[in-house]
Amino acid sequence: MQKITLKPGREKIVRQGHPWLFSGALKTRPAAEPGTMVIVESASGEACALAFYHPESDIALRILTTNANAAADTDFWRARMQEAIALRKTCMPPATDAYRLINAEGDGFPGLIADLYAGTLVLSISTAGMERLRGTVIGLFQELIGPDAVIERSEGRARSREGLAARNETVSGPEKTDSVLIMENGSRYLVDVYGGQKTGFFLDQRDNRALAGRLARGMHVLNCFSYTGGFSVSCLAGGAERVASVDLSAEANALAVKNLELNGFRADMHPVITANVFDYLRASEEQFDFVILDPPAFAKTARDVQRAARGYKDIHMQAMKRLKPGGLLASFSCSNFIDADLFSKIVRSAAEDTGLRFQVLKFLGPGADHPTLIGHPEGRYLKGILGRVVQG
Ligand code: SAH
Repeated sequence: MQKITLKPGREKIVRQGHPWLFSGALKTRPAAEPGTMVIVESASGEACALAFYHPESDIALRILTTNANAAADTDFWRARMQEAIALRKTCMPPATDAYRLINAEGDGFPGLIADLYAGTLVLSISTAGMERLRGTVIGLFQELIGPDAVIERSEGRARSREGLAARNETVSGPEKTDSVLIMENGSRYLVDVYGGQKTGFFLDQRDNRALAGRLARGMHVLNCFSYTGGFSVSCLAGGAERVASVDLSAEANALAVKNLELNGFRADMHPVITANVFDYLRASEEQFDFVILDPPAFAKTARDVQRAARGYKDIHMQAMKRLKPGGLLASFSCSNFIDADLFSKIVRSAAEDTGLRFQVLKFLGPGADHPTLIGHPEGRYLKGILGRVVQG
């Protein structure tokens, strides 16, 4: 196996459990096929890890294991996948058949996301190293899960940065174009695994949807950035009196209407509105008991952070103004460039400018099927705050 040598002291990053090494940490950057598996050595020549190596990407090394003697063969990947499956067996709630089976670095598979929707497995590969292992991991999914269908949604920016073309196809199973029916905490949802956003559904919000449902009894709820109605259905299932959903995407809204009806809620009583949330909040006078804000990542790169922070602050101010005294706000950011601290500051600054007191009831994050390594804060992209506004 090819060896890559680090600059002095940089092996500490590996020891601390960060799974990425940027190009600046390497002594030299030799030519190699993107995604080649290599042995990582400290400046003094001590082997400290196995990694995927990319000669051009910013992230030059993606650590696979700190056991530099590991074989990293099919048995190695099988054991990792079995570990990932075992975790989900212990942590999934009842009446739930959709969850993330592999959460990239968090499960030891850099660049692999695999979401299981009832019997349909949707995978997404974003690194050259994982692309080389594509056949192995698909074979292991067949062996260990035996899904009815495997669909690949390998798209997006991370993938093109690794020099890989997009792939969106049925890998195995019937060629079908309709949606998949899943159950989450007893509610049913249609998921468009072929054309929907990401792999079709935002599984990372499962626990937060359940929490919102527990809080929403008797409330008038405004679900902003509602996508296919996840939070709307969970709030109604929890006894909300009325839920309004707002999203810019007509396709997502069409599915949200179907999801409401599928669970026995009338879309004429619980409006699904196609609008820009920024405009909608500004134009509306209505007051709510509970507002949910789950926008897409406003900051897609580090350079976007300032502009994104202004956008986040703006919707928080608008949302806070729509709350009745004592009203609840559940607000999220899924951008890994906005860390938990900055997110808290944004919410604080919105409360300050609206002259409201904002009580934090709970800090929120993804469910246990989205594990992240303690040494990899960049993996913790989803953060949320559940709070309550009380008069200043
Ligand atoms: N809460 C959802 C996921 C939200 S994903 C769930 O639990 O499933 C973010 C959503 O924001 C997407 O559906 C996208 O269409 C929508 N969106 C993006 N920009 C928007 C805007 N300016 N106004 C309204 N919706 C927007």
